[in-house]
Amino acid sequence: MTEFRNLIGGEPTARANGKTFDDLNPADTRDIVGRFPASAAADARAAVAAAAAAFDAWRKTPISRRAKVLLGAADYLETNAARFAEEMTREEGKSIALAKDEFLRSAQTLRFYAIEGQSYGGESFPQDDADMLVYTAREPLGVVAVITPWNFPVSIPARKIAPALITGNAVVFKPSSDAPLSGYRLTEALVQAGLPKGVLNFITGSAGEIGAVITSSPTVRAISFTGSTAAGEEIHRSAPLTTRTQMELGGKNPLIVMEDADLDKAVDLAVKGGLSLTGQACTGTSRLLVHAAVKREFSERLLAKLKTLRIGSGMDPKNDLGPIATKKQLETVLRYADIGKQEAKHLYGGERLRGEHYEHGYFVSPAVFTDVTQAMRIAREEIFGPVLAIIEVASYEDAIAKANDSEYGLCAAIATRNPRYMHRFAQDIQAGTVKINRTTTGNLVNAPFGGLKRSSTASFRESGRSGLEFYTQIKTVYQGI
Ligand code: NAP
Repeated sequence: MTEFRNLIGGEPTARANGKTFDDLNPADTRDIVGRFPASAAADARAAVAAAAAAFDAWRKTPISRRAKVLLGAADYLETNAARFAEEMTREEGKSIALAKDEFLRSAQTLRFYAIEGQSYGGESFPQDDADMLVYTAREPLGVVAVITPWNFPVSIPARKIAPALITGNAVVFKPSSDAPLSGYRLTEALVQAGLPKGVLNFITGSAGEIGAVITSSPTVRAISFTGSTAAGEEIHRSAPLTTRTQMELGGKNPLIVMEDADLDKAVDLAVKGGLSLTGQACTGTSRLLVHAAVKREFSERLLAKLKTLRIGSGMDPKNDLGPIATKKQLETVLRYADIGKQEAKHLYGGERLRGEHYEHGYFVSPAVFTDVTQAMRIAREEIFGPVLAIIEVASYEDAIAKANDSEYGLCAAIATRNPRYMHRFAQDIQAGTVKINRTTTGNLVNAPFGGLKRSSTASFRESGRSGLEFYTQIKTVYQGI
């Protein structure tokens, strides 16, 4: 078992008093994947100070040199993807194929921003004075904080850190305490590609000890956070007025299945969208709004499909569902499975699995409930696990009304063959990401990503060119002779 360190000002540092925590394998908690510093407030202050010290030189570094670092890091992630994927599967539980894909997508993200960032600039403006030039420049913000969850432990950090660095910012990066190793590998990739000391500072530790020290620091000019709505709202509320925030938060994403849908395809969308990553994707499908005319048939086919799924360690490519990633999340999923049994009709699963392959891991069978109504907690609250709620709808209008009756608005999908439903759905649904005959999960590196309502802050999207916008500020210049 390896003991890892923070990286502050380019120096590997332990917490001053040496306290650590263990990164555990959720498929077998006897397996300690790594040991990390349980950093204290002083370490967090040192990380912010190191970023502040490195900022000026980095912002003045030619952009082609900044791009070269991102491109070198992309190559490093790609070369080591198989090895890093094994580590990710051990620390987070997802399948080895998904883990490898996540490292490859992160490499793609770094390359996208290396290229796109080099053509991201301001505008010039026509005016009457022939001896004057009026233009806007896009400048970096300064020190920015990146705080990320465990479910995509490298791709979420990559899509925040890459646009921050290419635009000339210095970063303090705090990964999830439940999966810090993959973020460490991203940091390692950038450092070995030549990132100067202090430009990216990696610090681990609990949100309670170091979170507020980072997010409330007036030196930190922007916070890009992905995680729960409760934590995101708390950070947003308590951040200084001068700090820009980008919060990517929870979801309760619907899949509408219309009466004309290809039902096998709809079942596939429900299973892939709802259960890949064992239901632990912010974009995961959790509400199935099914037209009354096909509800019975759809439910039967869904159940038949669920019974074929293999549950077990993500290391075995034959398994379809891995463990729940953390003990806390396991308890949440089992609690909601019990709530579902009390308030709706239980169709399948929701039990903790025991026995030979499961004994030391956090395994549950996927749960399905039907006859779910809008008032029920399993229809309203984010569970973040393999729990599907089937809600009957009478018409397209009823489906839209029920889908929109949610405090969240991250992603939404519809399964239909009717072009009229497709077209109207894109306009009527209250979601930042809209999918037609596609899973709610999955988003592109080069397209903006974010939600509506309590799923995101209203101001900035991430991914694509939106990521560059978040990390830059506009200065308007009037240049005479
Ligand atoms: P979380 O508990 O909110 O934690 C996310 C990150 O924030 C962790 O690094 C955590 O540190 C840190 N943190 C928590 N409270 C903080 C505070 N007050 N100040 C500073 N940092 C704080 O979320 P999670 O359980 O890791 O992830 C699951 C959630 O993420 C779900 O709600 C899911 O929907 C959401 N998510 C959203 C998206 C999206 O793009 N919209 C994508 C993925 C996940 P510790 O680990 O040390 O507690």
